[in-house]
Amino acid sequence: MKFTGKNVLVTGGGRGIGAGIATTLAQYGLKVWINYNNSEEHAKSLMNEILDKFPDAEVETIRFNVASEMNFLDAMNHIIQQDGGLDYLVNNAGITNDKISISMSVSEYDQVMNVNARSCFIGSREALKIMARKHFGAVVNISSVTAQMGNVGQVNYASSKGAINSMTKTFALEGALRGVRFNSVSPGLIKTDMVKHVNDDAINVLKSRIPMRRLGTIDEVSYTVAFLLSDYASYITGENININGGIYM
Ligand code: NAP
Repeated sequence: MKFTGKNVLVTGGGRGIGAGIATTLAQYGLKVWINYNNSEEHAKSLMNEILDKFPDAEVETIRFNVASEMNFLDAMNHIIQQDGGLDYLVNNAGITNDKISISMSVSEYDQVMNVNARSCFIGSREALKIMARKHFGAVVNISSVTAQMGNVGQVNYASSKGAINSMTKTFALEGALRGVRFNSVSPGLIKTDMVKHVNDDAINVLKSRIPMRRLGTIDEVSYTVAFLLSDYASYITGENININGGIYM
């Protein structure tokens, strides 16, 4: 895969799955904009790591809160001013705030919806406007198996990821004649900070339910995202790819 001369914005790219995606895309020759909100140190050291590994890579970091429309738009404008456009977007930033639904407040519900789903709407809408000008571009949204299966304590998270799945299809329809593809991926359990609160016993129970009996890796998500952005996926739009070891088919 080669993406030479193109750029990409990876939201939440400073750590976790986003950091893996940023590294993989830089390796394939994309100029990568690594977005972070709180993790400035992670983002800067990731940038240096990428530049050490791939001396020809082009990487920049950009701080903004994806839940703020104004921040997101300012960031997009900055990227366009610097690079003259945006070719690819990965809406990866996400949070959890788990609680059994009968104890969950509306603000706890809204917080997760805003960071995960509303941000994806804002990013996708702006990307479609920008990419349609060149009749070229692709967006990958990071969803979750939780959208398809539900999960106790995650009504906010499941709702946000369900919204991502349905908005991906809608954006794909609207982007199809404008040269812009939209797809999503739905990882199962991947070992990152997001699941660090899950203790080893619980992880073992979860593993026993996964047909492949193991967690997924960041690389397994990153390379799927790279494929979906690439021209090898040029006839794929509105699709969701499960990366879950077979727990949901
Ligand atoms: P993580 O390690 O907790 O990382 C979350 C990322 O999201 C961080 O880079 C964080 O950046 C960013 N982020 C959170 N709120 C943000 C905001 N308001 N503005 C900008 N960035 C923000 O989680 P992860 O496991 O890598 O998750 C990445 C994506 O994969 C998420 O969408 C998640 O739902 C999805 N996913 C994960 C799993 C899993 O098992 N790990 C499974 C399915 C789907 P800062 O630290 O800079 O704030």
